[in-house]
This record gives sequence, C-alpha cells and structure tokens, in this order.
Amino acid sequence: MGAVRTFTTTVSGAISALCLGSAAAAQGAPPPSLDVTLKPHAEGQAVDYVGVRLAVQAPDAKPGEAFLRLPMVFASVETARYHAADITVVDQAGHVPLVQKDDPVDPSNFMYFRRWEVSRPTVGDVTVSYRAPAQAYRPKLGSGPPFDLRPEAGGLNGAGVSFMALPDTSTPYSIHLQWDLADMPAGSRGAWSLGEGEVRTVGPVDLLAHSYYMAGPMRSYPAPSSGPFAIYWLGEPPFDAQAVAAWTQKAHTAIAGFFGEPEKPYRVFFRKNPYPGAGGAGLINSFMSGFSDTPAPTADSMRGHLAHEIVHNWTGSLSGPNGIVSWYGEGMAEYYDPVLTWRAGLITTDEFLNDVNKRAQSYYGNAMNTAPASEIAAKFWSDTRVRKLPYDRGSFYLTTIDAEIRAKSGGKRKLDDLTFAMLNRQKRGLSYDTDAWLELVTAELGPQAKLEFEAMMAGKLVVPLTGAFGPCFKRETVPYRIFELGFDSASLTASPRRVKGLVPGSAAEKAGVRNGDEITIAVVLDAIQGDADAELTIHLERAGQPLEITYLPRGKTVEGYRWTRVANVPDTACGI
Ligand SMILES: [Zn+2]
Repeated sequence: MGAVRTFTTTVSGAISALCLGSAAAAQGAPPPSLDVTLKPHAEGQAVDYVGVRLAVQAPDAKPGEAFLRLPMVFASVETARYHAADITVVDQAGHVPLVQKDDPVDPSNFMYFRRWEVSRPTVGDVTVSYRAPAQAYRPKLGSGPPFDLRPEAGGLNGAGVSFMALPDTSTPYSIHLQWDLADMPAGSRGAWSLGEGEVRTVGPVDLLAHSYYMAGPMRSYPAPSSGPFAIYWLGEPPFDAQAVAAWTQKAHTAIAGFFGEPEKPYRVFFRKNPYPGAGGAGLINSFMSGFSDTPAPTADSMRGHLAHEIVHNWTGSLSGPNGIVSWYGEGMAEYYDPVLTWRAGLITTDEFLNDVNKRAQSYYGNAMNTAPASEIAAKFWSDTRVRKLPYDRGSFYLTTIDAEIRAKSGGKRKLDDLTFAMLNRQKRGLSYDTDAWLELVTAELGPQAKLEFEAMMAGKLVVPLTGAFGPCFKRETVPYRIFELGFDSASLTASPRRVKGLVPGSAAEKAGVRNGDEITIAVVLDAIQGDADAELTIHLERAGQPLEITYLPRGKTVEGYRWTRVANVPDTACGI
C-alpha cells in the first residue's frame, strides 16, 4: 500500500481557491456564458484530433489586450502550441485575425503562456475554434506528468492545460460543456473532471484548464456513473480495473466520511503511459492515474496510490517552499492512506503491517535518510532516495506525534484532532503553514514538540516508539542493506542518460555497468527502494551494442527497525 509514484504532481492545491459557484457569481447578474463543445475525431482505429469550439458571450476584445491564452509548457510537458493561424475567431462582423505574443520563457520549464490578441475590436458574441492534435508527448526524462492529449485504445485523454486555448481572464463564466461524438465509434462517451456528458458550472476558465478529459469507447465504475465518484478508463489495463475501482470507491467513501464531506465529487482517469512506470497527477476534484505494461502495476499498488491521492484532497499541502513543507502534504497522505482504509476494514491488519514495514525498509535502508529538509527541493527529481524522504519521514513523524498525543491524553486525543484543527484554520481563512502546525502541536504536547519538529527537519532519524502503530505491533531492530544504485542517480535523468560516478565495488560495477554506458530505457526506482529483494534490470548501450544488466542494488548493512505482531492480541484490539 506504500504509495510513491514515479511522478505525481498536484496542481489542485494551487487552484483550490476556485470555487465552483463563486460568491461573486451568486450576487447580481449571472456571469457571461462560455459554451464549450469538444468534438473528437477518429480516423480508422485512432483519434487524431479533437475539435474545440468556444462560444464566448460578448467578450468586447480589443487590440492590445490579450484575448486568448495557452501555456507553452506546463510542468515540463509541451502543450499544443498553436500558431495564430491555427485558431479561427469569428464575430458578428466576420473573421477576426489574431496576433500572437509569447511571455518570457520560464527557465524552470514549469509554465509560461502564449497569448493572442485580436487585430480589431470584436462585435457581439464570438466563436473560437481550433483542432487539438492528439499525440503522445514523450518526456525526455522518461517519465513526466501525464497532461498531454493523447490517443488511447480508440479514444483520447489529456489535461485541458495542454490543449485548450481559453479566454485570457480570471473572471467567472457560466460554463456549459458538451461533447459532440458524431465522429467517434458508436457507444463512445465523454467525461471530464467535473462530470460526464453535458455539464454546466460557474467559475473561471481554469476550471477547464485544470481538468482532465477522456472520450471514446471507455468504461467506468460505477457504470453508468452519476454520483460523486467515478473511475474511467479506455482499453484493457494490465490490472483488474473493476476491482481496483470498486475498492477505491469504498476508500473514497471512508476518507470523505472521515473528513466530513461524504458528497465531495471525485473522478479518476486511468491511462496507459507509453514509457515504463506509473505516474499520476492531481487536478480539480480528480486524478489521472498513469500505468504502464512494464512493469504492470498490481491491484495493491494502484489502490494504495489512489487512497493517497484521495487524502490529498483534504490535507493538501502547507504554504511554504517545496521540499521544506513536503513532509506535511506527503506525510499526511501516506499516514492516512493505510490508517483510514485499515479502520474501514478495506485492508487487513497484516496488510497494514506490511505497509509499515515497506516504509521502514525504504526509510531505514536509505543512505540519504538524514538529509535535511533544506536539501530536498534541489535533488527531488534526480534522486529517488531524496524524493521519498518527505513521504517516509513525514509519515513516521506523524505516527510519532499520534503516539505522543495518545499517551499524554490517556487515549482521549490523537493526531486526528490536530489534523482537523489544521483544516478548521484553513476553512476560517487562517494560515495553513509550518507555524500553524507548530502552534497546535506545542499547545498539545508542550515546547519540546518544537524541538522534535526541528530535529526531524534537520535530518534526525525518526523512530516511532514500539507501540506507535497500536497495541498489536512491537518494534524490533534489524539489519538493512542500504539501497545503492551504484552510480550517480542524476545519470538517470540527464540527457542523454549516461552512467557516471560508478561506485567501485558496488553491485552495479560487479555486474558489469561501466561509466559512459548509455541507459536506453528509463529506470524506475521508487518501488525497488522499498523492496530489499528487488533486482534492478537496466538496458544499456555500449559502443553501439545493446546490453542488459541485472543486479541487486544494495550496499552496506546498517541497523534499522521493523514492526512485528504481538502474540495473543486479537485483530479487534489493534486499531489506532
Ligand atoms: Zn502525494
């Protein structure tokens, strides 16, 4: 159930302030209408483009003011990058030529916009139409957030931010979205993050940009879908999609119920990555869950990461710099994913224990486990060991805090009380940051809680007490062979991917890996790091010859911890 993806990004936090029926819209006249029609087009067995048509109510666009916008890149994924001539704008006076302007390039490659202005003032209502090509974007790093619009199994899917040129404004619209499936195979359906088929809502265009879209001969759970929860997919995933979806719906019910919002809508879109490894991204009320055939995900790994993502919808992330605050967002999601599904009876006590010990393996067998939080952001994408730290460390820290609160209050209070207090602060518009956490945790546990927090941030190893996971589990000391790739992990994300920094005497060297070898297929390490017996196979090219090398990426032995079942305590007495 341990949930770490090759690449997960959550944008919904940044735009959670977008409410579906904004207060401004509730007063006075309804906002102007924005009618969106999406018309995917299948040629033979594959979708080659989707026609996008926007009918904008009287925008009164003027030369010199941006009328439409589309990011050039979003989270390092290239978008459709239309040229002015690709977009047809027509108003009551006829055709309106566009003038194209690009914002300065964002050196971090996260996001910058291309904008279009009208060449004359518009008259009355305006229609905007263009074709979004459906073609998979192959990320240079071997994995990337699955935002690109791509064909899949006779349908297509993608995030709006990658293909929807939209009005360049943050004011709300009365949005009406519909699908025209006339050019698609019979039985096709269309859905996006906010619903299936025809959907009306009120909000800024970012609701459209930061949503997922899927259309074609897709299936769903439940089928048909009408409630607050649904999972959609195309084709035949290499795991039991029905079973994963059925479990995930129950997890959603349990998690949404725990946070007091059982009706909060949530949609999941499964899609196949044309590269190895999983990778997902969270957007508005939804999650795109990517998988690959090699390695095929297990139903366990799929449901674990989905429960993690569902928790994110409430606990979100603290305000503050990436890396520094990641312990909270990822730690909370990792803490509550197994705890809430265990409490709901959706995983067994043995599965819960297995989850704890996979994390223990990942964390105590991690040579970077004492790196301070200040170093996380810089190495987050290039070093799996660093990327996993906020997840493992954050979760074990929260487990420790939970045990301390239960001990101090004689079992009357627990971490849940602080989690809810944090969310209450957020609801009241108060800060949701490190200081807020420290204020609450020191009020609960006394001033030493601040020192404990600072020690964790400085890199001190977090070791939950023997009974921290409840009365059924006790801690024991065990040896771990540390995870050791055997060469500089930055080689995996360089372009080209060439082995450098080979460690003499490492398993990689002994197996035959050499500096300068080119890695031809992207390597995914996240799951291997949490599995002491998992061998790594890398595909190399040396002097023009392909080469496949398999080894156990483990180095020296260190002392760490694991938890085992206490004899004679029944499952019914286990809970935390
Ligand atoms: Zn996460």
